[in-house]
Amino acid sequence: MARAEQPLKCPSAQPGMGDVQILGVISRDADEPRLAYLDEALPATPPVLELAAPLDVSQVFRLSARCEERKCTHFDGVDCQLAVRIAKMLPEVVDQLPACNIRRDCRWFRQEGRAACLRCPQILTGNHEADEVLREVAGVPRLSR
Ligand code: SF4
Repeated sequence: MARAEQPLKCPSAQPGMGDVQILGVISRDADEPRLAYLDEALPATPPVLELAAPLDVSQVFRLSARCEERKCTHFDGVDCQLAVRIAKMLPEVVDQLPACNIRRDCRWFRQEGRAACLRCPQILTGNHEADEVLREVAGVPRLSR
């Protein structure tokens, strides 16, 4: 199969999606959480995901999986609008492309290029730790005050 025919990968996936793998582990050594990318993809099997307990999987791991395209609220039929917002609204947090195990198939990179990668390590799947900007990027309504 030619590379162009490979399904693209979502780099902020949930358990239960297709071909789900561990993209990296959330590091909390600095002031803000950052993704430490795994050198090689690791299947996100139930025993691996259970290592996150008692925390939620998304507080410990970031997962990649097959992009669900039209089944995903972020997909507009052509592009992932989450990737668009990340590239437009968030600051760069690294100055070199992270060593990432899905780059050649990553939807965010295919769409937004380097701009997505330089912002990617700050993304946490889910929004329980997200500040207002990250919530807005994720498409979550602002909290009422
Ligand atoms: S670093 Fe770039 S290629 Fe890797 S998951 Fe993030 S956006 Fe995709």
